[in-house]
Amino acid sequence: MAEIIAHSIQYLKKIDTPILESADEWKYLFGVGSPVPASGIYRCTGCGHEITSNKGEKFPPQNRHQHANPNVEVLWQLIVKTQTKG
Ligand SMILES: [Zn+2]
Repeated sequence: MAEIIAHSIQYLKKIDTPILESADEWKYLFGVGSPVPASGIYRCTGCGHEITSNKGEKFPPQNRHQHANPNVEVLWQLIVKTQTKG
């Protein structure tokens, strides 16, 4: 789970937008090897593993992130959107 401390919370902003009105990066889950829609921290819905990815890169391929049970799908969900460039 992503962590913050009291000092770092000032650099985070909660956006109160209903999910259906929010941008695609918040609305959808992203599969293996698909393009990263926004830079940030993503969480695998299958196992809880977190990764950081930059916009324009691709999510890890099948051979880089696997589950012991192959029936558990790898889907990435944005949990913290960052303002990084490149
Ligand atoms: Zn996983």
